[in-house]
Amino acid sequence: MKEINTHFQKLQDSYLFAEVNHRVQAYLREQPDARLIRMGIGDVTLPLPKSVIEAMHRAVDDEAKAQTLRGYGPEQGYDFLREAIEEHDYRARGIDISKDEVFISDGAKSDTANIVDLFSNDVRLAITDPVYPVYVDSNVLAGRTGELMDDGRWSGISYLDCNRENGFVPTLPSEHVDVIYLCLPNNPTGTTLTRDQLQQWVDYAQAEDAIILYDGAYEAFVREEDVPRSIYELKGAKQCAIEFRSYSKTAGFTGVRCGYTVVPKDLQVGSASLNAMWRRRQTTKFNGASYISQRGAAAIYTEEGKKEVRQNIDYYLHNAGVIRDAFLKVGYEVFGGINSPYVWVKTPDAYPQSWDFFEYLLREKQVIGTPGVGFGQQGEGYFRFSAFGSTEDTREAMERMLK
Ligand SMILES: *Cc1c(COP(=O)(O)O)cnc(C)c1O
Repeated sequence: MKEINTHFQKLQDSYLFAEVNHRVQAYLREQPDARLIRMGIGDVTLPLPKSVIEAMHRAVDDEAKAQTLRGYGPEQGYDFLREAIEEHDYRARGIDISKDEVFISDGAKSDTANIVDLFSNDVRLAITDPVYPVYVDSNVLAGRTGELMDDGRWSGISYLDCNRENGFVPTLPSEHVDVIYLCLPNNPTGTTLTRDQLQQWVDYAQAEDAIILYDGAYEAFVREEDVPRSIYELKGAKQCAIEFRSYSKTAGFTGVRCGYTVVPKDLQVGSASLNAMWRRRQTTKFNGASYISQRGAAAIYTEEGKKEVRQNIDYYLHNAGVIRDAFLKVGYEVFGGINSPYVWVKTPDAYPQSWDFFEYLLREKQVIGTPGVGFGQQGEGYFRFSAFGSTEDTREAMERMLK
């Protein structure tokens, strides 16, 4: 008998950005001449670094000649990129990760979703709230959660609340959990943990024999000294953590597609090596990221590439500073935006609900942002502003806020 995976029906249509669009279109029908400034974008806007573009052009030329054609590459990625990662992302920072522990992919979204393949459906999950929706949804599809409850949460998940009361530092679970998702610097809150705070999670994972799935997609935005750029900076993390990285926000690869996942060889569950399992999973279900994107990614590790990437990130961080300063000036409570392109704002008392604040901004300021409640129950009463726009637009939007 034909039977579908009924867990699909549990997931509602992705509501957040559809609803944002719907409301914006309704407003534009009333006010067709409104000059809207979009501060909801989770995508880059600056062009790719010049050295990346040049490397990709050369890679295209390789594909144009029989002698240099690259067909299928290694499923785990080309050595030239894995060696550059080992050297520049890890060894240069005093971290001992070898290229055999690095798996190149087409981005962090697919890897953070696919990693569910490694664990049984009996694992107890802990996921921070608010957070990037992929972690919850991929586990729902795998049948690892129970039902959606009235409060919008799934049974079978331990939610780790992050809010102004705890300074967006999740509290260690009081019960045992097996798999913990951490996204740092966080999307959507833009907040991070210090090295000491993250160490407590690593210590918890080691004591409880749990695995941390660490999404470091925004690592390149970290500027404060006491904030780790990799979980492997912490003692014991190689025994309990998988790290996801992406070139999307780092170097503008959202359309090019390339990222990687680190699965240390020390990571054992019983007699099983997660590194060997992930290799088996990838060789079975994945045929590698494109040669051209991997050549592009490798170019960000050159001296020129590093400089260009740094300039782009500085540009976005400057915008984030403009957003932070403006909201602080008008007396809002502001989080994030220091090691992150996202600024997370507590909505003012007059608009305790995220969606009411959305309407206020749209109608009174012609500014579009993202309601925090779309990222989880704990996001209610907060709002996300993205620094990925142009500095001109960001300035103008903030001048409107100050008026
Ligand atoms: C943007 C983003 C990613 C990146 O996904 P890619 O598939 O590499 O483009 C991963 N995690 C988070 C939290 C993100 O915001």
